[in-house]
Amino acid sequence: MPKFIADKMLGRLAKWLRFMGFDVIEAKREGDEDLHVLALQEERVILTRDRILAQAIASDCSLLIPHESLDDQIRFVVHALEISAESVSEQILTRCSSCNTLLVARHLSEVEERVPDYPRRHKSRFWECSTCHRVFWEGTHYDRIQKVIRGLL
Ligand SMILES: [Zn+2]
Repeated sequence: MPKFIADKMLGRLAKWLRFMGFDVIEAKREGDEDLHVLALQEERVILTRDRILAQAIASDCSLLIPHESLDDQIRFVVHALEISAESVSEQILTRCSSCNTLLVARHLSEVEERVPDYPRRHKSRFWECSTCHRVFWEGTHYDRIQKVIRGLL
């Protein structure tokens, strides 16, 4: 699966791609040159809203995102990189949306005090980030991603 560097204007897209299981780091705006080197070293695709940056970097490692809306941005990335809906389905909720760390499956009893009442009573699967200790479950984000994926089929 492709790995990404997202520019500062694409923070929400970065978060959602992580929900979908992709490895996404955020660009600290060093120089375009440094970003290009990092992309090549780590084999990452640079996602950017900046036309000048995209033009400065070879198109094989950058993708100019022409859309404002999040759903359109997600669809654009998935189509442009020919990512299959099946492969996304398999890796939803495997990565922390905040810090990009892989998630660990947890029993409710291990994370109970950090789960609100509703998911505690109605959800059965939980995951924890071992870096920032956020807890995830199949909630509204999960449903929205499933909807976007279904729309791609
Ligand atoms: Zn985290």
